[in-house]
Amino acid sequence: MKMNKKKLIVSAAILLVIVAALIFIPKLIKPSTDTGFEEESVSVTDTVSIVESPRSDFPKRTEVGFYLDTVITISAYVDDPQILKDAMAEVGRYEQLLSRTVEGSDAWRINHAGGEPVEVSEDMAAVLRCAQAISERSGGAFDVTIGPASTLWDFKSGEAVLPDADALAGAARQVDYTRLQLDGTTVTLPAGMMIDLGAIAKGYIADRIREYLVGRGVEHAILSFGGNVIGIGTKPDGSPWKVGIQDIDKPTGESMLVSRNTGTSAVTSGIYERGFDLDGVRYHHLLSPFTGWPVQNELASVTIFSDSSMLGDALSTTAFVLGTEEGLKLIESLDGIEAVFIARDRTITYSSGAEEYIIK
Ligand code: ADP
Ligand code: MG
Repeated sequence: MKMNKKKLIVSAAILLVIVAALIFIPKLIKPSTDTGFEEESVSVTDTVSIVESPRSDFPKRTEVGFYLDTVITISAYVDDPQILKDAMAEVGRYEQLLSRTVEGSDAWRINHAGGEPVEVSEDMAAVLRCAQAISERSGGAFDVTIGPASTLWDFKSGEAVLPDADALAGAARQVDYTRLQLDGTTVTLPAGMMIDLGAIAKGYIADRIREYLVGRGVEHAILSFGGNVIGIGTKPDGSPWKVGIQDIDKPTGESMLVSRNTGTSAVTSGIYERGFDLDGVRYHHLLSPFTGWPVQNELASVTIFSDSSMLGDALSTTAFVLGTEEGLKLIESLDGIEAVFIARDRTITYSSGAEEYIIK
C-alpha cells in the first residue's frame, strides 16, 4: 500500500510538471515579433489636447503630415528636429507597404493576385496575424477581408449616397476571414476577395513609429494618428499627457472625457468620424462583415486603452461592432485592455479598469 501511495505521489508530480510545461513553454518560445494579444502598445481618439510642459532640456517640436488618409502629428521634446522628419518619412514608408490603394504595396498585391500565393513583408504578416486572432476571438465581428463591402461605400465625398443593396449583399458574401490563408509570410486570398486594413494598420504603424522614436532616444512624445493617440513616457515634468475623447455630439476637437496617458495607446472608433445622415439614419464606416451595412446599435463610439495601438485599433472597431454588452465581455476577457463605450444617448460604460485612465 505504501508503495502505491508513493507511486501516486510521483505520478502526480510528473503530471504537474507536464501541465506546467504545456502552459509555460509555448509562452517562452513565442517569437517576440508575434502580434497576437501580448504585444505592447496603446492608442486614443480624434482630439489631443497637449498641455505645454514647463520643464525640459529640449524644445517641444511638432511635425505634421498627411498619410493613411488622416492628419498625423508627432510632437516630441527633442534637440534634433531631423528625428521627427525621419519618423514622418517612416510613416510614409509603412503606408507604401500596407495601403491597399498604393499600387505594388503588399495589400495591393494580395488583392490582385487572383487567388495565387503572395510573398509579403514581416510587417504585413504581423498585421494579418493580429487581425486573424481578433476575428477568431470576436466570432467574425472584426474581418480584415471587409474590402468588397467597404469599397462600395463613399464616406469621403460628403454626399449621402447609398450603395446598391444587391451589390452590397453580394459583396458581403465575399467577406470571410477564414478563407484568408497565412503561412509565415505567404498569403493566399481567393480571387474576388479583398483585404482592407483600415481598422488596424494605423495602430500598427503608430506602434512602429513609437518604437522608432524610442530607438532614437526620444523620452517624451505624443503621437496622433487620427483616432489613435500614443504616448512616449510622460511630459518632461513627469505629469501625464492629456488626451481628449471626442464629444459624440460636438464638433471635432471638443472632448467629452479627458484621459491620462503615460506611454500607452488610446484609440477611438466612432460614428461621427466618417459617415453621412440620410432620412434620419446615420450611415458610418463601421460595418457589419455579415451584411456590409453600417452597424446600427446603441453605440456612438468606443475607446480602447492598451499598450499596443494595433490591438487598440482593431479592438475599438471590434467592440463597436459587437455592441456594449458583447464588446465588454470580450474586453474583460483580455489582459491589459480597457474600454470606454459611449452610447448615442451619452450613457458611458467603462470596463473594470478603464476609469483609472480618466481624469474627468
Ligand atoms: P478610423 O479609420 O476612423 O480610425 P476604425 O479604426 O474604426 O476607424 O476603422 C474603420 C475602417 O475599418 C473602415 O473604414 C473600414 O475600412 C474598416 N472596417 C469597417 N468595418 C470593419 C469590420 N467590421 N472589421 C474590420 N474592418 C472594418
Ligand atoms: Mg480601428
